[in-house]
Amino acid sequence: SSSKLEKDKGVNVQVLLRCRPLNEDEQRTRTPVVISCNEGRREVCAVQSIANKQIDRTFMFDKVFGPTSQQKDLYDQAVYPIVNEVLEGYNCTIFAYGQTGTGKTYTMEGGARKKNGEFPSDAGVIPRAVQQIFNILEAQCAEYNMKVTFLELYNEEITDLLAPEESPKFIDDKSKKPIALMEDGKGGVFVRGLEEEIVTTANEIYKILEKGSAKRRTAETLLNKQSSRSHSIFSITIHIKECTPEGEEMIKCGKLNLVDLAGSENISRSGAREGRAREAGEINKSLLTLGRVINALVEHSGHVPYRDSKLTRLLRDSLGGKTKTCIIATISPSIYCLEETLSTLDYAHRAK
Ligand code: ADP
Ligand code: MG
Repeated sequence: SSSKLEKDKGVNVQVLLRCRPLNEDEQRTRTPVVISCNEGRREVCAVQSIANKQIDRTFMFDKVFGPTSQQKDLYDQAVYPIVNEVLEGYNCTIFAYGQTGTGKTYTMEGGARKKNGEFPSDAGVIPRAVQQIFNILEAQCAEYNMKVTFLELYNEEITDLLAPEESPKFIDDKSKKPIALMEDGKGGVFVRGLEEEIVTTANEIYKILEKGSAKRRTAETLLNKQSSRSHSIFSITIHIKECTPEGEEMIKCGKLNLVDLAGSENISRSGAREGRAREAGEINKSLLTLGRVINALVEHSGHVPYRDSKLTRLLRDSLGGKTKTCIIATISPSIYCLEETLSTLDYAHRAK
């Protein structure tokens, strides 16, 4: 609950739950709905039938967005305050977590831009965050510079979604070595060979995003739905020049990471399937480690296992300490997804 979060000084993890509506197919075939959302009480209830008995399980979150919630509602209520923090010099991360097909990419990216460049009402978190950042910087007449990176993590390997077309996957153009995570000697990490694009307008970022997303989709069709098992991380780093009342110059630096995680079905806790998935090398180390890192941060346990996966190493400077984290857990209302839904609700609930 928020009062608990307020007490947890230095740990700022917010967990939201979003349930998508039934799609047309599901409506046509009259798929039974087993999820009900109470936005006012911030509760989600799942109804499970076991041996002809109905068992209700209720979960509480920091915010709940039901099937009729709009992209703008979620943004204004949950993301807008976080982006303000980025401009105040915080490192913030927004994760979309959930089973494949529940709306992670819809929530993060949403509908494509229109031909006239405007974005549609179903635009997601990323384009809205970009717009907010530029609106605020322009209103402040701030002197700033901004750079973006866009990468994909698959099987603990990094692909640069902004690399020039001709450079082969996984390869750093300059050194001809695989793109690698390197320690910077100051406790941080950097990605050797990763393209950093300097941007000055919102439109430039939208174009970069479209290029990177298209690349991700191509990989998806080529590599048998790879994207359900890959994480994408879009990061915006902003340096803002400020003057103190005494006339001293100060640079404020904030970073926003927008992460579309791999499908959570890959870490299903169901024993038999987990066994098989492990054999097939499908257990997603980064997704598992992220859960452990967030747990350790929320519970203030001494050891935070950042080093155990690429995802958590990459995001280390944005998880824990003076940072804000928001997890948007996405679920389907369908009875056929119930088992995965319960596992998502459990995972997300444990992160609180
Ligand atoms: P994921 O990225 O989790 O695999 P997607 O974002 O691709 O899932 O969503 C699957 C489908 O459901 C897409 O066609 C998407 O447009 C639709 N969808 C997801 N969430 C919503 C929502 N809240 N409202 C309307 N349509 C949605
Ligand atoms: Mg997706």
